[in-house]
Amino acid sequence: ANDARPLPDLSVEELDSLATGLRDAHAAQAAKGVTLDVTRGKPSAAQLDLADAMLSLPRSTTDRSGTDVRNYGGLDGLAELREIFAELLGVDVDQLIAGGNSSLTMMRDVLVDLLFFGAIDSPRPWVQEEKVTFICPVPGYDRHFGLLEDLGIEMVTVPMTPDGPDVDAVARIAASDPSVKGMWIVPTYANPTGATCTQEVASRLAAMETAAPDFKILWDNAYAIHHLTEAETKSADILSLASSAGNPHRAVMFASTSKVTWAGAGVAFLASSPQQVTWYLTHLGKGSIGPDKVNQLRHVEFFGDADGVRAHMDRHREILAPKFAEVDRVLAERLGGRAVATWNAPAGGYFVNLDVLPSTASRVVALAKEAGLSLTPAGASFPYGDDPDDTNIRLAPTMPPMEELTEAMETVATCVLLAATEKLTA
Ligand code: PLP
Repeated sequence: ANDARPLPDLSVEELDSLATGLRDAHAAQAAKGVTLDVTRGKPSAAQLDLADAMLSLPRSTTDRSGTDVRNYGGLDGLAELREIFAELLGVDVDQLIAGGNSSLTMMRDVLVDLLFFGAIDSPRPWVQEEKVTFICPVPGYDRHFGLLEDLGIEMVTVPMTPDGPDVDAVARIAASDPSVKGMWIVPTYANPTGATCTQEVASRLAAMETAAPDFKILWDNAYAIHHLTEAETKSADILSLASSAGNPHRAVMFASTSKVTWAGAGVAFLASSPQQVTWYLTHLGKGSIGPDKVNQLRHVEFFGDADGVRAHMDRHREILAPKFAEVDRVLAERLGGRAVATWNAPAGGYFVNLDVLPSTASRVVALAKEAGLSLTPAGASFPYGDDPDDTNIRLAPTMPPMEELTEAMETVATCVLLAATEKLTA
């Protein structure tokens, strides 16, 4: 029997017989009692090991200027580290600061400062507005949405496209509603779709008319250098584009070494117009006398220069590319031609975006759980956890060892097919 026909073409009898086999496979996986987890985009132990030379660094206790890194001070971060990452992020070193271990914390700082104090181009602090709304490309990064929800910022969604956010939709919303104060973008190898924002899309976002005079693009370039192929996608140059469009303070860029060195002990970066960087540091300076310069210095000693970072990312790619290839192999083998799922083969980043038959994503996640496999909750990539089509599932293949990943993807495929047969025979 041809078992790779589109499921919607099968008769009810054919679907029932297929479902019987799938239920057996599902029950067999559940009976094994193994637990598998592809929920979070964490580096694997093998990736963390790549940076273990840092455990015996820094050798020096002073930075290039002779400052003792063990002491207070230097709120904007070590110049030599900022130089390395300015080159990698395509920004001027005087626009870039190096901070603590989390860029997400910097994003929260920026939002809190905007709410409390307003930006340098704000008529008033954002909390004094009747309401504040952000444009959220979906599917997107769940923590971005959680952060906005926590701070009482409303969310309006626009679709992600392969070229970045749907820029017509963004421009329409931003132009018509003064409560719309900003937007999220993961510009390169987006979480979770893998899309990269083109220079054309970035250029329109940088130049578009906005009803709010202080519209902010929170440009979270978390995966700027996290290539999975030898073709290294270049990030759009948002700060220059915004500046030459006459909106120098529109964009705030974030990045970190969480997925370069160690997710728990890396260095995070923020870049914007020099004046907006000063604005950020002024408020930060009320709560900090300086970052962990010892950690910053050991990063400098470990990498040497930007090419040192690039070479290090090649080692990550050697570990990660086979895992992403394996996800694609299993999904193609099991789901190809079935017309019940589409997924992407990203050129970088940490995720595979799986879209299943509408209104079956939560069923797939529930079936997977019964079989011992944890998947990110359906809807997680949407504001308030609400995927209106119940179709999107984010797969994070980096953390599990290869054998577990294969087993996890086989289980995903079984659950996707089983949920589809249920739906089609209901
Ligand atoms: N931004 C994106 C898009 C991410 O996917 C993640 C982690 O998954 C982060 C930020 C977290 O960054 P950090 O570790 O620097 O706080």
